[in-house]
Amino acid sequence: MISKKAPAWVMELLYELGDDRDLPAQARGESEGMRYRLRARHRLQEPETAVDRASDQEIVAMFGACRSARDRLIVLLLGRAGLRRGQAAGLRRSDMHLLMDSRALGCAVEGAHVHVVRRENPNRAYSKSRKAFVLPVDFLVVQALDLYMMERHDVLGSGGSDFLLVNLFRQPLGSPVTPEACRSEADRQACDGAASTHP
Ligand SMILES: [Zn+2]
Repeated sequence: MISKKAPAWVMELLYELGDDRDLPAQARGESEGMRYRLRARHRLQEPETAVDRASDQEIVAMFGACRSARDRLIVLLLGRAGLRRGQAAGLRRSDMHLLMDSRALGCAVEGAHVHVVRRENPNRAYSKSRKAFVLPVDFLVVQALDLYMMERHDVLGSGGSDFLLVNLFRQPLGSPVTPEACRSEADRQACDGAASTHP
């Protein structure tokens, strides 16, 4: 079971704000001395996530290497929600059911979740799982997705393909990212993260 509440300092990294006025109430009051507190918490606090998911500490390290809201979302989809690269790259916008109640969308699953569906995709992304399944996502993933959709809207407006994760920084803009792009992103971040935690 994924913890519903992300720690405030992870929220803060997600938002990258020096000023906390725009932060949700959950993340306010954490701005001052963040670096100091981050170090202290890493010593004191055990990761609260499930064993097969990246710890908050690892996610923080990977966030440090992210250059965009999209990359942070990829980190969380893989590291926090537990999606495989092919599954993340194959997601459609309509697969994201992020409200507590999705019945208006014709779905009876409760809480925020993602539908992982096996399809023939032009970007060769596909889920290795034959059966479609539902993956619950936590508040952090929902927030990261919101921020990514704003970033995407800035570049593409409401256009682009129906794929969730698309090119925003290289041509062809709006075309789906490949599973390989998710891989190199994750690998690069893993390397950068390791470098920054072991100076
Ligand atoms: Zn649903």
